[in-house]
Amino acid sequence: MKDKSLESIGEFGLIDIIKKKFNSKNNDSLIIGIGDDAAVISKSKDDYFLISSDMLVEGIHFDLTYHPLKHLGYKSVTTNISDIYSMNGFANQITINLGLSNRFSLNAIEEFYKGVKIACEEYNIDLVGGDTTSSKTGLIISVSAIGNVLKNKLTLRKTAKKNDIICVSGDLGRSYIGLQILEREKSVFLTNPEMQPELSNYSDSIEKQLKPKARKDLIEKLSEFNIIPNSMIDISDGLASDLIHLSVQSNLGVKIYEEKLPILKSTILTANELNLNPTTCALNGGEDYELLFSVNEKDYNMLKDNDIDITSIGYFTSNKKCNLVSKEGETIGLKAQGWKHF
Ligand code: ADP
Ligand code: MG
Repeated sequence: MKDKSLESIGEFGLIDIIKKKFNSKNNDSLIIGIGDDAAVISKSKDDYFLISSDMLVEGIHFDLTYHPLKHLGYKSVTTNISDIYSMNGFANQITINLGLSNRFSLNAIEEFYKGVKIACEEYNIDLVGGDTTSSKTGLIISVSAIGNVLKNKLTLRKTAKKNDIICVSGDLGRSYIGLQILEREKSVFLTNPEMQPELSNYSDSIEKQLKPKARKDLIEKLSEFNIIPNSMIDISDGLASDLIHLSVQSNLGVKIYEEKLPILKSTILTANELNLNPTTCALNGGEDYELLFSVNEKDYNMLKDNDIDITSIGYFTSNKKCNLVSKEGETIGLKAQGWKHF
């Protein structure tokens, strides 16, 4: 068979190819394997184990010129456990594998683990193992998380229902804006190291980029109000990309409205300053680590009546098309434009 380049297949295409090769079970404890935010494994009569894994690579996912190691330690944990919360479960343990070069001192690694520890305490999880090796291509961080979910609360990508209301927690596009500001300041510094960085006006977006939170608080709220979403995913690649995952896997379409997208005023102002379209930042920026989920109307009203930090942005349709209705009323097809890794 003719070989193909990874670039032409893309990240999601490659994952599909791997998934198809491993679609039969060798062990009965496997409930759900490749394809959702975390794998689901039998645990006990009432609950399942959840397992997720993520990798952060220097030069691809972070730049140590402006990413303090302490924040990077924190972010490595929160971005990974976000995949456990998006299954409507809770993270309990993590392992961390590091690929390190001689460039790092003990102090630097200790800074990284200070951030890991802060996240472990904030999210009630324990670091229980990992692996350490040398790397010639910069810092490589791989985190795996183990969690659990009650069987009747497990929430998948593939179970959205027609007419479900699509909700998103928090706000969108802020992390991407933070990244653009940090990149701008880096290039200013490289051309003129004497220039003082101008970061104070952008602290909320920079903070979201450097040390994003995982939305454990929302999973606790859902549990408090006895609400089990019909589908859920966390937004890592961007709203458009992650919404398309829900849509394709649920075999439904989506209709969302530009005017409903939760974008902070500060994000809009900075996007304008950077000549970026705020809607594009919200749709394709990525790294928001907010939860994107769908519920019926009754559950949505209950969440809204209790002032939970969510916004409805549209609904699931039976026609399988993924569309955005612009502020001008134009219907535009959504495209998956997440991070391009290859
Ligand atoms: P997320 O953005 O939520 O981390 P990904 O797009 O990275 O999700 O992964 C989607 C699914 O594909 C997950 O089930 C993940 O475990 C699986 N996956 C990703 N890369 C690989 C791989 N190299 N081998 C096997 N499974 C993979
Ligand atoms: Mg995810």
